[in-house]
Amino acid sequence: MSIERRGLLFAGATGLAAPLLAQGLVRQAQAQTAPAATPQAPGFYRHKVGGLNVTMVHDGYFQRPLEGFVVNKPLAEVQGVLRDNFMPTETLRIPFTMTFVETSRGLICFDAGNGTLPAAATAGKAIANMAAAGIDRARVAAVVISHCHGDHINGLALPDGSAAFPNAEVLVPERDYRFWSNMDNQAAAPQAQRAYFNNIAKAFTPYRSRLTQFGESAQIMPGVRAEAAYGHTPGHTVFHISDGNAQLMYIADITNRPVPLALHPDYRIIFDFDAEAAEATRRRLYDRIATDRLAVTGYHFPFPAFGHMTKEAGGYRFNAADWSSQV
Ligand SMILES: [Zn+2]
Repeated sequence: MSIERRGLLFAGATGLAAPLLAQGLVRQAQAQTAPAATPQAPGFYRHKVGGLNVTMVHDGYFQRPLEGFVVNKPLAEVQGVLRDNFMPTETLRIPFTMTFVETSRGLICFDAGNGTLPAAATAGKAIANMAAAGIDRARVAAVVISHCHGDHINGLALPDGSAAFPNAEVLVPERDYRFWSNMDNQAAAPQAQRAYFNNIAKAFTPYRSRLTQFGESAQIMPGVRAEAAYGHTPGHTVFHISDGNAQLMYIADITNRPVPLALHPDYRIIFDFDAEAAEATRRRLYDRIATDRLAVTGYHFPFPAFGHMTKEAGGYRFNAADWSSQV
């Protein structure tokens, strides 16, 4: 029973509640039990990196049970970390946020969202949020893919099979694309990863004539360098974006939510393809990001998914940016 309902019963029993107060309590009680009827406002957030304009565009979220997410720790331990950090302990919301950057080569975005036929009704909000942010899909010059999991590539295609970004080149890490587009690899992949092979053709086919596969450490355009960050998937890649001394790392999925996973880099999740390599990658990159004080964006970080990492005992904490701290 919720506190509000107990309050209502108490007020009714003593006869002390004014009618308006009672109505307010009823409304509160209903709000507690009914599913959220009012969505959040359109999700976009702007921040500068040197002279570059960065816009974070939210693509909604997916909710899953916490159980089964971290595979190498007792559930009660993970729940304790979430409780300490004011988060729910039975379910976990996995948010999705795309990073858009205005570069000398035009507007580019990192990863493509879930698309308009997402696995959950709470996801697939990027197109609406792009519009709210004044971003015309036709103006996107390049979509840069970190890895080929469905939540990062399904947004490339519209339901009719056409390109969601009609004028964009698509850049994809060669190692990841080659792995996931070869069905011969499916049987050897971990069970939880096998469905991802089925997304590849639909997502990339509309871009067949403008698909570029790039190698490890490629300078994919002025100010944007790829860096191998293997483990989450065989060719998972992060991106270093710079303008003068200002630097931003788009870390994609070196971890999912930073609480509990950056706080505890030894936590291994069900979506990591090679858990040992993924842990080594995130330890190396988080250490550098915190030490060098780089700005960071993460695909599954809490919105606005833009901020900085600081080192604390045993791990790293994400410190979200705040528009009011922007110069
Ligand atoms: Zn992901």
